[in-house]
Amino acid sequence: MQDIIAKIFPKNLPSIDELEIKYSKRDLPSTAMVTRICPSPTGFVHLGTIYMSLICKKFADQTNGVFFLRIEDTDKKREVGGAKEIIYSSLKEYGLDYDENQTYGPYVQSERKDIYTAYTKYLFEKDDAYLCFCTDEELKATAEEQERLKLKRGYYGKWAVWRNKSEEEVLAELDKNTPYVIRFKSHGDGEKTFTHHDLLKGNVDLPENDMDVPLLKKENGLPTYHLAHVVDDHLMRTTDVLRGDEWLSSVALHYDLFQSLNFPIVRYGHCSPINKLVGSSRRKLSKRKDTEANISFFKEKGFVVQAVIEYLLNLANSNFEDWRKENIDKNYTEFNLSMEKLAKSNGPLFDETKLRDIAKDKIARMGNIEVYDRVYEWAKEYDEYFYGLLNSNKEYWLKVFNIERVGELIRKDIAIWSELYDFYNFFDTEKFTKPDWSTFKSVFTQDEIENILNEYKSIYNPQDDKHTWLGKVKDLCPKFGLAPDIKAYKADKEAFKGHVGELTQLIRYAITGRTQSPDIYEILQVLENKEVLKRLTI
Ligand code: GLU
Repeated sequence: MQDIIAKIFPKNLPSIDELEIKYSKRDLPSTAMVTRICPSPTGFVHLGTIYMSLICKKFADQTNGVFFLRIEDTDKKREVGGAKEIIYSSLKEYGLDYDENQTYGPYVQSERKDIYTAYTKYLFEKDDAYLCFCTDEELKATAEEQERLKLKRGYYGKWAVWRNKSEEEVLAELDKNTPYVIRFKSHGDGEKTFTHHDLLKGNVDLPENDMDVPLLKKENGLPTYHLAHVVDDHLMRTTDVLRGDEWLSSVALHYDLFQSLNFPIVRYGHCSPINKLVGSSRRKLSKRKDTEANISFFKEKGFVVQAVIEYLLNLANSNFEDWRKENIDKNYTEFNLSMEKLAKSNGPLFDETKLRDIAKDKIARMGNIEVYDRVYEWAKEYDEYFYGLLNSNKEYWLKVFNIERVGELIRKDIAIWSELYDFYNFFDTEKFTKPDWSTFKSVFTQDEIENILNEYKSIYNPQDDKHTWLGKVKDLCPKFGLAPDIKAYKADKEAFKGHVGELTQLIRYAITGRTQSPDIYEILQVLENKEVLKRLTI
């Protein structure tokens, strides 16, 4: 045994006892939850990662615990340059600040190689690990045979051919420099089951672990997920591992590893992924198929971060919506996230319409300066043209964004910054083109419309307050056979061609090129007088 150890492990590994002392228990109350998020740096932050981070951070904050980030970069083939930075900045952008106390670091797995190797050596010394010299071809042949016999796939039972080899046989292969992996020597009986209590799934019966999985990877000696998870979550003193439910089937293996390493077992909660409705069937929000799976989608579109956060909280706990209604001015951090309610939100559905509604609400609550500042920041990165406009005339655009933003009735039209320009593009005087009147539905002919607008032009005065302005519009009505108000029109429809709305609609169309717009009086107030007069001339 010592011969093998000397051949395969480096000399200066830290000892298990040293590690246990270095990464000592956190000084926290017993109810404090230590949670973490462990993404891989693939250049893509999944919406699900933000969702899980939010949940983990909330539980940590609510219990005066700790939430931290660990980068799982052991799969060097999938790693993309700059991806770690994208993870750091995305979490910060979403206000998901994580603990960076280096006592428990480094937080990047590739920088912890010695630690994993030390524990692998420890397992090897206590005969809970062994060398396996199977080639990829041999493993493939085993898998095919298992498939043919309709058996569970993997390295277990009689298929674990190197499990009981003698020291001599192992040394002989080492002498030949045959490549190997170090496998865990499982302790369970795959025919038997045990009950795992999951924070989110409740009691789940699982088969015991009989899989002899690799602990370190053949190509670079970095740990497999299984070893890294158990070692890191022990040393980093995680109390609650909340992770995607694709890991539920590995729980037995993880229990086995925890026990073999003499570590107390963490609590597990396996969370259902965010789903998407495609036609009438649901499926997991997919990195490959769905643009909205990538968190950068929301930034590019210009979703307000707070809206995305609150939308995700809604998915986690459906009572968040009611809480928000009752606590309009509170910060979402004051909401108490419940584990029980989370357990019930089985595979929540991503619904962009709902997210947009929340976003509209958030933007409706902003003042014009905040709208300007935020859209300015967004446009700087994503819309050069609009950025130029915002830069060239700040005062003007502040006035535009102030329309229907003060007073009782605030419109909720804007959901995302990328739609703002189109919504207000008639304020872009350089680009505004006269509308096509041939498609405009009216009780008047084209000549009459021209005539009415000319008449209106002569009485229009930008100094008029809203009341005076409306009075003048009404006064003009009888001349063109229109009722000055809706009530008069309804009382005797036959007597009129229409009501005052017909006239304001002509003004609206001339000024904005649209049949629907925010308050036309406010729009007229923002546009320069000469621009108004120009547009009223058709
Ligand atoms: N890197 C793992 C994943 O992305 C982390 C799972 C975990 O939270 O333990 O699935």
